[in-house]
Amino acid sequence: MSNLLVTGGAGFIGANFVHYWMKTYPQDNVVVLDALTYAGNKANLDPVAANSNFVFNHGNICDTALVETLLKEHGIDTLVHFAAESHVDRSITGPDAFIETNIIGTHSLLKAAKKVWLDEGLNKKKHRFHHVSTDEVYGTLGPNDPAFSETTPYAPNSPYSASKAASDHLVRAYHHTYGLNVTTSNCSNNYGPYHFPEKLIPLVITNILHDKPLPIYGDGQQIRDWLYVEDHARGIDLVIKTGRLGECYNIGGINEWANIDIVKLICGLMDKAFAENLELAGRFPQAGKVRQGKSSELITYVTDRAGHDRRYAIDPSKSNEELGYQPQETFDSGIAKTVKWFLNNENWWAAVMDGSYQDWVKEQYETE
Ligand code: NAD
Repeated sequence: MSNLLVTGGAGFIGANFVHYWMKTYPQDNVVVLDALTYAGNKANLDPVAANSNFVFNHGNICDTALVETLLKEHGIDTLVHFAAESHVDRSITGPDAFIETNIIGTHSLLKAAKKVWLDEGLNKKKHRFHHVSTDEVYGTLGPNDPAFSETTPYAPNSPYSASKAASDHLVRAYHHTYGLNVTTSNCSNNYGPYHFPEKLIPLVITNILHDKPLPIYGDGQQIRDWLYVEDHARGIDLVIKTGRLGECYNIGGINEWANIDIVKLICGLMDKAFAENLELAGRFPQAGKVRQGKSSELITYVTDRAGHDRRYAIDPSKSNEELGYQPQETFDSGIAKTVKWFLNNENWWAAVMDGSYQDWVKEQYETE
């Protein structure tokens, strides 16, 4: 049995990871630490909230004393670190929060783990600090370059990826310098349920439902490598359980897509869903184009993002060969599940889009 501390567990990937973990290991105890920034939504944890072995803790990873208390009080042996500022566009307009959470926050967690696990000797042997990172630390690829492997030199291009790169280095240093049991995973772009609607795939789905333009940066030929979020959770599980200490593992599904092609694919799936299910037209009367089977007419090209990386692609050979990792979803099955989830969970995304998902935070904490 393990006692997990999951940072950022109210975010997109963290919440999906908690659902996956509690389903797969129902005997384990899971504590979530999340500051509930704009990207954190307590409703993402509703499916597990009533479990007696689940605890939610509202707090900031930069609060080292709080992290130490949680590690001790809950006898934590496994810390899985998702908490981050994660949106590249926001890192361009406001990099400070990225430095604070992604670098200083990660260091705060490392300090707390070192103190409690190593200096004070609790869980000295069994402890594990798993750091969740991104393929964006490797920079950008040309069309014919080989995909990123774990030995690709770091070359981050945005404040987001630079802050994640710094955090990866700190995690590595705490292993080599102090002997903390760490592993890191670098994953490609995720998609799936609970994805915040500012990101490409949910943005396209929800904009189609509102008959709003589908903004495409530049020529739309930027290439990303996509992985269904539960397949990411499965990869992290394997790294935690069987990965070698101090090592980094790339997690991906060899699934490269140009942004414009993803948008066209989603348009096709949405048109099909509306054509097959007439009830949808009644539920989304404002969705004019998709009701006519013409959602791709909403595609609108906009000025490219500053410093936009052209191509990311993950070489997952190491996690395939060493850990036996294989994603379970194909892109067709994963994207179909995702479109269906968004069509069936209007309450969730409507609350995110009108901001009411944060009312709970205001009521609970802002009056304190
Ligand atoms: P997200 O933005 O959806 O969620 C981040 C969560 O962290 C939110 O719940 C937020 O409230 C919380 N948080 C932010 N600052 C905090 C702080 N100071 N203290 C405590 N909690 C804080 O992010 P995501 O997309 O779920 O990404 C999770 C992790 O996975 C990140 O580390 C990200 O770099 C990494 N990653 C993401 C992707 C992707 O495609 N989204 C791909 C590879 C790696």
